[in-house]
Amino acid sequence: MSSILQSSSAHLVSDGNIYAPTLFGYQRRETIPVSIGDLMLGSDFPIRIQSMTTVDTMDTHGSIEQSIRMIDAGCELVRITAPSVKEAQNLENIRKGLRAKGYKTPLVADIHFTPNAAELAARIVEKVRINPGNYADKKRFETIEYTETSYQAELERIRDKFLPLVKICKEYGTAMRIGTNHGSLSDRILSRYGDTPLGMVESALEFLRICEDENYFNIVLSMKASNTQVMVEAYRLLSKKLADGQFKAYPLHLGVTEAGEGEDGRIKSAVGIGTLLEDGLGDTIRVSLTEDPEFEIPVAKDLVNRYVGRNHPNAPIPSLLNLPAGFDSPINPFAHSRRKSAELLNFGGHQVPRVLADFSNLKSIGMEDLKAIGHFYLPEPDKWAMNDLGADYLYTGALDLDFMLPNGLKQIQSSKTWLASSTSEHQFPLFEAEEWLLSSKKHNQLNFVHADAEEVWTNEVLINALKSAQKEVLVLSSSFSNRMAALRRAFFELETQGIDIPVVIRLNYQDIASDQFQLFAPTDAGALFIDGFGDGLMLSLAGLQVQSSLENSTNFGILQACRVRISKTEYISCPSCGRTLFDLQETTARIRQVTDHLKGVKIGIMGCIVNGPGEMADADYGYVGIGKDKIALYRGQEVVKKSVPADSAVDELIQLIKEDGIWKDPQETNN
Ligand code: SF4
Repeated sequence: MSSILQSSSAHLVSDGNIYAPTLFGYQRRETIPVSIGDLMLGSDFPIRIQSMTTVDTMDTHGSIEQSIRMIDAGCELVRITAPSVKEAQNLENIRKGLRAKGYKTPLVADIHFTPNAAELAARIVEKVRINPGNYADKKRFETIEYTETSYQAELERIRDKFLPLVKICKEYGTAMRIGTNHGSLSDRILSRYGDTPLGMVESALEFLRICEDENYFNIVLSMKASNTQVMVEAYRLLSKKLADGQFKAYPLHLGVTEAGEGEDGRIKSAVGIGTLLEDGLGDTIRVSLTEDPEFEIPVAKDLVNRYVGRNHPNAPIPSLLNLPAGFDSPINPFAHSRRKSAELLNFGGHQVPRVLADFSNLKSIGMEDLKAIGHFYLPEPDKWAMNDLGADYLYTGALDLDFMLPNGLKQIQSSKTWLASSTSEHQFPLFEAEEWLLSSKKHNQLNFVHADAEEVWTNEVLINALKSAQKEVLVLSSSFSNRMAALRRAFFELETQGIDIPVVIRLNYQDIASDQFQLFAPTDAGALFIDGFGDGLMLSLAGLQVQSSLENSTNFGILQACRVRISKTEYISCPSCGRTLFDLQETTARIRQVTDHLKGVKIGIMGCIVNGPGEMADADYGYVGIGKDKIALYRGQEVVKKSVPADSAVDELIQLIKEDGIWKDPQETNN
């Protein structure tokens, strides 16, 4: 059981685990208001949408035109990189150009390493973003032993470097974001706290204390990471530490760094940002895609608009009883740990979460239809093949199949069909909970039992039966408008009742666009998988068109984004900005084309050497711009090929992967 009371990380939370206003409904975390020019930010205001320009900051016209495209798309805050004083100075021209065209949207200067650029920008634009990992420190990848005295001396050094900026911001009414990135923590923080959510939080708090000492509070905080588990845990811990440490309740800026592009980037962003929005955390968001910034805005809007007018579920969800004071959940929300479930066939225990495809709404099912869920019939050798996104189970409802399923795919039937006509050991029934309680006939190996989340905390007969269930997998769905909270509550009930039955999360969506489906499902399911819940996932999108392929790739995409089942290559590609040294979109597409069959390999694609290596800390290989048409290739954190011409860098990357014995030729079935 992943109880907080038994957790190895209990020292983090020994004084409680409350980090959000409620886990059983929707309520925004209350914050102080922050003013960014005329734009107000915080819990009394809508969740603001922002993005960042990608053109060179010295290209005044290009920056203005791109900012206008972003603003017209709905961007409420435009961030622009200022790597040195000359770019900081040029923010003035960009600002004037925008104002001359009637655009009053506040601008944010993005600063890394250069206090002098920050101090200048703070006099020009409405907000300055600093990275506490590199504002006062250069990265040397050193582990340093600190005594209490030497650590205090370091904090004094930071104060001396940072204080001038704080004073300028105060004088000019400029807002500030203290924006921690998981990939660029200072050597000092890494030495003391390690590469952890706690280190990320402390990195920001070191700077925040200096601001509060100066009575400067116009501050927003962020805790971004490419790893969604780390990102969610860091924001939650920050929220709790602010409350515990008697800091003011500063607004939070949410984002997943280097989320990538296309479907994967959207799903990953929704898992990280959506999970926190569900908790009521977050006052402004930026979706970082390796695409033009105006394409980030509709994604951000869809994520945020879901919460407009959302307050409470259509019926109250009762909170848990019998937890110690200061606890509102039986798990540790600050460290991922999978719920312990019993292993049954390929469910639960140490098995990866399973993907269940729902074909019950089709009129009929032919062999060709299975292509959409990763299973291919090859007539020539007369056998089935499967790609990395091959579903594990197929729910056929009341439909019959007139062919044999491949070995890797098992059939689930509606209980009525199974009871009436099942002929094979390899067909399993899906019962409604009440039916299952009454049925005298059950499968001798595996039965699926569907229940609404609410039944888990209201139906005592069901709870008692689940306690002794041996051959069952529970399929949980919810009809609550706030379905994630209801499902979470059901998992909490199972946890506190000591019920270890494997659980499949089933989410049905009706009449929403496929774009929204790929944001809402990752939000709802992601929030649960991040908390360690779920032994399987079954998504359905009902509408006019057959959506099997979309449902399947979203199922696998969510599990990958939550890092609970890796089925494809992971790309950690930066969104690009004014520092970018090559065409990131084109290069990412080229690298993806030749490597997307390398299941489980993580490839970082970073536009510049300044932040790239830190930001892709998690990657197995890195492709980093170091100069015009010059690329450095990394193995983990180590540079292995310096200054490779851009023309041959993708081939060199493949060569590097081959040298490590990881390369495989693409399979026919993946094409
Ligand atoms: S890594 Fe990418 S987004 Fe980050 S500073 Fe460099 S070019 Fe800009």
